Amino acid sequence: MKLSYVQKFAAAVNTVILLMVFGLMAFFHICKVHFLTMFSIPTAMIYVIGYYLIHKEKLLAYVWMVYCWLTFYMGVTTVCLGYGYGFHLYCFSMIPTIFVTEYISYKTNRKSVKALPVSIVVALFYVICTGYVAFFGPVYHPDQKFAALFWIFNAIIVFGFLIFYSRYLITSIISSEEKLIEAAHVDRLTHLYNRHYMLERLEEVPADGRESFLAMSDIDNFKKINDTYGHNGGDEVLKVVADKIKNICSNCTVARWGGEEFLILSPDPLPDGKDMLERLRENIASAPINFDGQDIRVTLTIGMAVRKNGQSIDLWVQDADSKLYIGKNSGKNKVVI
Ligand code: GH3
Ligand code: MG
Ligand code: MG
Repeated sequence: MKLSYVQKFAAAVNTVILLMVFGLMAFFHICKVHFLTMFSIPTAMIYVIGYYLIHKEKLLAYVWMVYCWLTFYMGVTTVCLGYGYGFHLYCFSMIPTIFVTEYISYKTNRKSVKALPVSIVVALFYVICTGYVAFFGPVYHPDQKFAALFWIFNAIIVFGFLIFYSRYLITSIISSEEKLIEAAHVDRLTHLYNRHYMLERLEEVPADGRESFLAMSDIDNFKKINDTYGHNGGDEVLKVVADKIKNICSNCTVARWGGEEFLILSPDPLPDGKDMLERLRENIASAPINFDGQDIRVTLTIGMAVRKNGQSIDLWVQDADSKLYIGKNSGKNKVVI
């Protein structure tokens, strides 16, 4: 987001708050709460200074100034009018706000705001102001019918803020966790699963899972592809081959096992699986991959192994690997069972 948009947004918020200050000032005047009427003057001055800070791009200073004054304003209005108006409720929204400010400072590498001590000060200030009212009662006793309207308005604002804020927070946490889980499980180049994820899935296959099979696939002469077309050409081949494996083995779990090695875990029984791997091999061999206007011919050798009863995962993978080795030593571009 460009700073000018942030400035415009801050200026708009500042204007709304300033208008509310004037509205409250008129209300305090009508209710003859003289102290709060006079107190509205320095409050309005704060927001006028706010325009200056926003204009000078001192947004953190602006947020701090408004934050401190709002907290102070809540305390003063609570002592003057009591709980009935609900101004003290805003303290509950000041605490999450300061933690968000700390988070934004951290994300933007600005001077860190210490949310914990600030929130403790806000809580203490709340206890002192409401405690004063509990012991001595409010300083002024304006007409209580206004109090109900203020209470409802302020309570709706505070609870509305807390509900939307909490929901936003949880949604952000879930989305960050999903991204982290994906980053931990998926290879960045090919978007296939990585070796670590595949090992977890393999552990779940029953030891007598005769229906499923493993296929270790390796691009033939990949070093030569890199040497001829450069590393970027090699990367493009890896991406296209990965996409083809995913499309053709759509119900398999496919992982990038090593540099140009892909491990396929298929739940299908053998005859269908062999056909599918043949189709994959043929598809790759018959369609050159275009890179930078050049056609790159690619072939794949595949070793396939069904898990023997009670066989360990390591031996099962080794079995597929040794079939791949046989394919490599007997001309490449083939599926070996
Ligand atoms: P073979 O037919 O026997 O499999 O020969 P090969 O040349 O394909 O096999 P080898 O395993 O010797 O070479 C693999 C090469 O893959 C070596 C390495 O530089 C390259 N490689 C590994 N990871 C990447 C990658 O992410 N991108 C690119 N472009 N190359 C990679
Ligand atoms: Mg290879
Ligand atoms: Mg290899």
